[in-house]
Amino acid sequence: MRIGIFGGTFNPIHYGHLRAAEEAREMLALDKILFIPSGNPPLKVRELADARHRYKMTRLAVIRNRLFDVLDIECIRKGKSYTVNTLETLLKLYSDSELYFILGIDAFLEMPNWWKPEKLISLVNFMVLSRPGSRFIDLLSSPYLNVKKEIMVRLDNGEIRSFTTGLQTRKEAVLLGVTPIGISSTDIRNRIKEGLSIKYMLPEEIESYIISNKLYK
Ligand code: ATP
Ligand code: MG
Repeated sequence: MRIGIFGGTFNPIHYGHLRAAEEAREMLALDKILFIPSGNPPLKVRELADARHRYKMTRLAVIRNRLFDVLDIECIRKGKSYTVNTLETLLKLYSDSELYFILGIDAFLEMPNWWKPEKLISLVNFMVLSRPGSRFIDLLSSPYLNVKKEIMVRLDNGEIRSFTTGLQTRKEAVLLGVTPIGISSTDIRNRIKEGLSIKYMLPEEIESYIISNKLYK
């Protein structure tokens, strides 16, 4: 099987995540996408809803799509989980599958600050998705990619939709332009705090869940 792994805080999950995942799945002909909400950090972070809530919201978001699934491996653990450990667990679970770790340009640029990034890029393939506010050309500063500026420019202006490159490890990275959806969880949380509408930014069930559990007030 070909499996996409989509990690995030999903605080809360929104249509930007869901549409990006759908386009990634279609582009790479993935058999399924596993959404993995992060756990609770050891110290309480302001604005971060409890992992249990974020897991439930993510489940509500994908329940009617049989190609999308949610895994609780990070959010049932006490304390912080590292992506490297999560991927090692998944590699054992799906030993005969091809795994693609899916993330936006903004998240990929953060990777040097993660735990053991060099190990990370040796474990699985990557799929780096466009996101409003970030550009492929920003990836020229990434230590893990070696793609010509000209290609990044063509990705940014939509002349080409995707580009596949080898990582220093034997894994590959697919850069993919997806439909730009300028929604972020931060913006949703800010709107809730200000008493503004979040309708049509995320599935209705999740809006209801947020209201009934009084999240992000
Ligand atoms: P926050 O504002 O709290 O950081 P977020 O909207 O960035 O929330 P995350 O849970 O941090 O959501 O993101 C999880 C993954 O989804 C990241 O790899 C991120 O780049 C990607 N992503 C989030 N929103 C979008 C979007 N609108 N389009 C494309 N990718 C997105
Ligand atoms: Mg984010």
